[in-house]
Amino acid sequence: MSKGLIIAIDGPAGSGKSTSAKLIAKKLGYLYIDTGAMYRAITYLALENEALKDESRILELARKSKIELKYNNENLVVMLNDQDVSKEIRSSDVNTHVSDVSKISAVRKLLVEKQREIGEKGSGVVMEGRDIGTVVFPNADVKIFLTASIDTRADRRAKEYFQNGSEVIVKDIKNNLSNRDKIDSSRKDSPLTKAPDAVAIDTTDITIAEQVTLIIKEVKKVALKKNIQLSI
Ligand code: C5P
Repeated sequence: MSKGLIIAIDGPAGSGKSTSAKLIAKKLGYLYIDTGAMYRAITYLALENEALKDESRILELARKSKIELKYNNENLVVMLNDQDVSKEIRSSDVNTHVSDVSKISAVRKLLVEKQREIGEKGSGVVMEGRDIGTVVFPNADVKIFLTASIDTRADRRAKEYFQNGSEVIVKDIKNNLSNRDKIDSSRKDSPLTKAPDAVAIDTTDITIAEQVTLIIKEVKKVALKKNIQLSI
C-alpha cells in the first residue's frame, strides 16, 4: 500500500470537523477517524453502568470494552462490545456528560493509544477531535484548526438533529456546546487548543465546499513537499 499522510483536524463541536474530515477522507481514499465517537462510547458505557461518579470503574469498563468504528454507505457506525451504539452516543445524556468523562487522564491515555495505533498504519488517515494536532499526532503532516461562531455551531447541530427526526431546542444545544467548550478548553490534560503550527480556518461564513477546498489546498502543498502521491 502506498504511503499516506496523517491529517489532523481539531476544533470545537459544530465547527465543521466531521463534515470536512469525512469528505476529505473520501476524496483521498484515506481512513476517517472520529475520535469524539470514542469518548462518547465510553461515556455511554459509564451511563449504562451507572458509573459516572467512579473514575476507576469507568477506566475498568473502558479497558474491558471493544470499540470499533465501521462504515455503512459512508455513515459512521460505532460498535461497542459488538453492539451498534451509533444513535445512543449522540443522546442528550451523553452530550451532557462526555466532557467530564473526557477529562479523565487514564481514559485519554487509553484512547490516544488506540488512535495512534490506527493512524500509524501508514496508508493515510484523516483524524478529527480536540487534541489530534497537539497530543495524538504532534508530528501530523497536516494540521487544521476549525472554528465558527457559537450561534452558527448551534444552528448546524440543530439542523442535524432535525434531519434525524429529533426535536431540539437551539438554546439547549447552545448551552451544551458552551459548557463543553469550557470544560474541553480548560482541562489540564490535552485541552482543546490550536497547535502553534496548525492552519486556522473560521467556517462561520463559508460553505462546506469552500471549507474542503481550503483544507485540500493545504494537503496538496504538504504532499508536494513530501513527495507523497495523492489520488486527486
Ligand atoms: O467531536 P464530538 O463533539 O463528538 O466530541 C465529544 C466530546 O468528546 C468533546 O466535547 C470532548 O469532550 C471529547 N473529545 C476529546 N478529545 C477528542 C475528541 C473528543 O476530549 N480528541
